[in-house]
Amino acid sequence: MSAVRKPITPKPPRVRKHVLVIQQEQCKQCGLCVEFCPKNVLCIDTSIYNKKGYHPVSACDIEACVNCGFCERICPDLAIYLADKEEARKAYESGNVQEGTVIPEFEKNSSDEGQ
Ligand code: SF4
Ligand code: SF4
Repeated sequence: MSAVRKPITPKPPRVRKHVLVIQQEQCKQCGLCVEFCPKNVLCIDTSIYNKKGYHPVSACDIEACVNCGFCERICPDLAIYLADKEEARKAYESGNVQEGTVIPEFEKNSSDEGQ
């Protein structure tokens, strides 16, 4: 057995091709996505109400999202899903999104820029 150690090559940072989109006006606060997200990305935002009177889901730790899509599959109201990052960015920056649309990854970036 060789005693020569191989160099450790660090993995490149994970690049997510999709972004999480939350339609907060469609959310009914059922909590399924929060419960089933394997990375604890999601939480119910009790500081706001949508027009239906529910506290909508929000992203508490968007950096942990692995784009697995469980939340999209489990949501009974089509209120949360993954979208192509570049297409979503174009729509978001041009304001071409439904009322109540939240894209946590872009919001994080814009708040970072202001710091
Ligand atoms: S895509 Fe997966 S990791 Fe990301 S928020 Fe949804 S369930 Fe959680
Ligand atoms: S599963 Fe859908 S309706 Fe239920 S809390 Fe999550 S986003 Fe809202």
